[in-house]
Amino acid sequence: MKIVIASGNRGKIREFKDILEQDITPFYELLGDIEIIEDGKTFAQNALIKAREIYSKLGEEYIVISDDSGISVDALDGKPNIYSARFAGESASDKENLQKLVDMLKNKNLTSSKAHYTAAIAIVSSVGEYVVHGWMHGVVTTVSKGDKGFGYDPIFIADGYSKTLGELDESIKQKISHRYKALDLAKPIIEIIRRGK
Ligand code: IMP
Repeated sequence: MKIVIASGNRGKIREFKDILEQDITPFYELLGDIEIIEDGKTFAQNALIKAREIYSKLGEEYIVISDDSGISVDALDGKPNIYSARFAGESASDKENLQKLVDMLKNKNLTSSKAHYTAAIAIVSSVGEYVVHGWMHGVVTTVSKGDKGFGYDPIFIADGYSKTLGELDESIKQKISHRYKALDLAKPIIEIIRRGK
């Protein structure tokens, strides 16, 4: 059974491959560009929307996995949450989204706030549908540092660390991240589906 990831986000695809240590095909290599409307109200709903859509186009020979993730900032009443990828507008870049978050903190005269990342991973196959979650807690700051990772990583400092995820080696992020924790739960589910048990 071929594992397909229902995401075009290169940062996520890289992390999926590294963490799952499996051959994973991005959906666009099989289906080209597909626009999926993520109109769910939660990370879990949006992850399922993406995985179902791709699975419906591929069929029973495939296991489709997807990730819907984002950051929630305490001082911003949990924003941007499920809107993390489009915080500064529908086609905003990672840099623009990060800058909007920094500006909103500065407008409140803050230099940091507690925050957490959430990842919901959906697995859709002939066996059925599953969703698992992972979280990473820490703080966001108004000073962007480092160029590793993606998205909000240059302003996120995970609990127990003094450097941003943009500065830390990616192997460290992989051990503590929301995506790692969710994928750790997804791994045995994928194995069971592959073995047909
Ligand atoms: P999605 O592709 O619709 O799930 O949007 C995920 C968005 O959340 C990304 O574009 C990033 O802005 C943010 N995000 C999720 N996970 C991470 C992460 O591990 N590091 C940095 N930003 C992340």
